[in-house]
Formats: sequence, structure tokens, C-alpha cells
Amino acid sequence: MAAPGVLSLLRRCGKLRWNLPLYAKVWMTQPCIYKSFKSEALPNLAKNGMTCVPLQTFTEEELMIKEMVKKFAEERVAPLVQKMDVEAKLDESLLRELFEQGLMGIDLDSEYGGNGSSFFSTILVVEELAKVDPSVSLVCELQNTFINKMFTTYGTEEQKRSYLPKLAKNMMGSICLTEPGSGSDAFSLKTHAEKKGDYYIINGSKMWISLAEQAGVFLVMANANPSAGYKGITCFIVDRNTEGLHVGKKEDKLGIRATSTCPVTFENVKVPESNMLGQFGRGYKYVIEMLNTGRIGIAAQMLGLAQGCFDRTIPYTMERKQFGKSIFDFQGMQHQIAHVLVQIEAARLLTYNAARLAEIGKPFIKEASMAKYYTAEVATLTTSKCMEWMGGVGFTKDYPIEKYYRDCKIGTIYEGTSNIQLNTIAKCIAQEY
Ligand SMILES: Cc1cc2nc3c(=O)[nH]c(=O)nc-3n(C[C@H](O)[C@H](O)[C@H](O)COP(=O)(O)OP(=O)(O)OC[C@H]3O[C@@H](n4cnc5c(N)ncnc54)[C@H](O)[C@@H]3O)c2cc1C
Repeated sequence: MAAPGVLSLLRRCGKLRWNLPLYAKVWMTQPCIYKSFKSEALPNLAKNGMTCVPLQTFTEEELMIKEMVKKFAEERVAPLVQKMDVEAKLDESLLRELFEQGLMGIDLDSEYGGNGSSFFSTILVVEELAKVDPSVSLVCELQNTFINKMFTTYGTEEQKRSYLPKLAKNMMGSICLTEPGSGSDAFSLKTHAEKKGDYYIINGSKMWISLAEQAGVFLVMANANPSAGYKGITCFIVDRNTEGLHVGKKEDKLGIRATSTCPVTFENVKVPESNMLGQFGRGYKYVIEMLNTGRIGIAAQMLGLAQGCFDRTIPYTMERKQFGKSIFDFQGMQHQIAHVLVQIEAARLLTYNAARLAEIGKPFIKEASMAKYYTAEVATLTTSKCMEWMGGVGFTKDYPIEKYYRDCKIGTIYEGTSNIQLNTIAKCIAQEY
């Protein structure tokens, strides 16, 4: 099922003309080779589809997608990164290209306009994009692992036919859960949905809504039966142009600046009952389930970020000379560098393991939280160390290291803070012992 989609993806990639915009000022650093890791195509699969192979072994399709996205990221994304960061704005032509390349519907079935690939391929795409720009990586991550997944998992056939082809082709979606008074304690949300005949009237305020500036559709969590507590939380599909929906001024953020993050308010927003996504009162469950897979996506984002930063730094340490030799040659440096690479490798194994488990339908909640928690820690360590290894220049905007350093912090906050991941892991431990 997956092959034709991927082939068309690659065919389209082959047609790309890699004209770099003239205004693109590439950062003052050596041409970067993203070494990451060596990998091989999956040699053979046992007949039952299961086999014991190293975690960094990929199917041919996964390898092709990974290579295609690596090239796309280096040639199309890299020249725009600094400009998008300074202007705090996603380049519109790049967003169009993400759609054209099929990167906004990676594991979506081809009957809905997607590429019919796998969840693991999505994880590889997110990782590859994050090596070059964690913002662009988030755009892809959120659409694939959250928005599309919500529709495919809980939507009616009519909702799927109505929204998924657009989400694969040219429309962004946003998820509206967090509110000023409910962050980690997400299900204490106050946004309310009241039934009036065939309609629901939604009132409330959401905060920190990623990509709200671009979104054409919002998946809104509102309590339609507050007397039932969190079991009243219901998900509604709200089109951007619905009267009463207001997207506020975007936040001026430390990192992932090219992605918009905005407050969104709902003032007597009228949505037909047919816009309810899934069942009444099941919204909390849907959010938990989506966050579990989404966390693997954020882990892939942090993993790519750490690897990208590392790959950009090491060549500098080899070229930079002090005391008559390259700074890489000091054992004090080598031990630190080796230590960081071990952490990145461990983060990769946690992330891939969680993704493979999710893909084959095995329990993965603890593993997803571990991956998200750990990769965020590793991204923090890596970017901090890389900046130190670069010395003064790492602290300037002439090099991309300070951007990786700023971008990584969000990994400890969204889709559940690091403490919340530890809470989840501890809950799993309590059940196991
Ligand atoms: C850039 C960005 C993008 C975002 N995108 C979206 C989006 O698209 N959609 C959306 O709905 N939300 C989004 N969020 C919201 C995000 O998920 C929340 O910020 C996050 O869940 C934390 O909530 P909070 O900011 O209210 O922090 P709080 O919940 O107030 O947490 C503050 C601190 O208290 C700690 N803490 C809280 N409870 C506990 C506990 N039980 N045990 C131990 N420690 C605890 C936390 O770990 C944290 O350190 C985004 C946020 C940001 C910054």
C-alpha cells in the first residue's frame, strides 16, 4: 500500500529545481555534512513481519524518505532558517513546498491524499528536518502526528473526506487544549460548549496555540458537560472563518520563532453538531492518546536538533587551533565530545524504540515519555556544550549554535513538561511493581 505514495513523493522530489534564493545568507560556517549515523536498509523481514534487527535498520522505503528529506532540508530549508528566525515568520513558499513534497500527509492513506507511508517514516522526517530547523520540523510533526491522526482515528468518513485531503494538500491545523488557567492540568479547562438544538455554542480562551496564524482548522477541546468533570470534554472541529473565533497576537518567543504561537478566543462560536470529532465526552481520552504518539514526534524533533547542532560544531573544533593544535585534539575536549555523542545515540535508541513499538501496536506510553524526557535533556546538554566548544563565536548570531540552544528549551515544556513525563513514567513503574 505504501510504495506508490513514496515513489510519487520521490519522483516529485526528483523534479525539484534547487534554485537557492539570492537573498539567502548562509551562516558563516563550513558546509555542513550531517553525519548522524550510518544505516542500512532492512536486509530481510521474517514472514510474520517481525524480526530482530538493530533499531537503526530501516526499510528501503524509510531510507529513501530519509535521504529525500535530508536533501530537501539542506537545499531548501537551510537557506531560509536565519531569515525566518529573525523575522519570526514561516516562509510561505517553504510551507507550500512542504505540502507539495507530501510531507504534511506522510502516513496518511492515499485515498485521502496522503503518501500512505508509516509512522516511523514520519519520525525520520521530523528528525531530518529538525537537524536543519526545529521550527519547520514542528510544522510537519504537529500536522502528521496530531491533526491528521485525530481525523483518521476519530473522524467520521464524512469528516475525513472533507478535511484530510485539504490537510495533505494546503491547509494547516491547530490543536486547542491549553488555557491560561490549565496547562499541565489540562483537563481543568474552562472552555465551554453548550448544546442549542443542532448546534453547540463554544465560549472560552485558549493559549499557546501552535501555528494558529496559519491554521485553516482548529480542533477545540471544550467541556460540554461540566457536571461530569473532565468526562465532559469533547472535541469540536472549528473552521478558521467561523464567526466569533479570534486569533490573537503571536507570542514573541525565545526559540522555534518561525512557528506562530497565539492565543485563540471563542466568543459564541456556533458549530453544527456534525462538527463534533468522535464521541461526546471522550475528548480527554483522545488528547491523552494523541499526546502519547505526539511525544515520540517531539523526541524526534529534539533528537534531530541535538544531532544537527553537533554536526555543525565538530568540524569547527577540528579547524580551530589553539596552543598550536586543533582544539579537537585536546583530550579534555575529546572526552566531552564523545560523552555527548553517547547521549545522542542513547536518545536515538529510545526514540526509535518508542516509534517502532507504537507502529506495531505494542504498549509504548512509558517508552514515549522516556524518549521525550531524555531527548529534551540531551538536546539541552548538546547545545550548551556545542556553544562552549565553539568559544566566543558560538555565542554570536553569525553561527547557528545559539539558535539550536534557544530552540531546544521548548522540548522540556510542550506536549507535557519534563516533570509530567516523569510523572507518567513513575505511574507506569507503580503499575509494574
Ligand atoms: C511554544 C509553545 C507551543 C505550544 N503549543 C501548544 C498547542 O499547539 N496547543 C496547546 O493546546 N498547547 C500548546 N502549548 C502549551 C503547552 O503544552 C503548555 O505550556 C505545557 O503543557 C505546560 O503548561 P503551562 O505552560 O501552563 O505550565 P504549568 O502547567 O503551569 O507548569 C509550570 C511548572 O510546574 C510544573 N508542574 C505542573 N504540574 C506538575 C506536577 N503535577 N508535578 C510536577 N511538576 C508540575 C511543570 O513541570 C512546570 O515546570 C504550547 C506551549 C508553548 C510554550
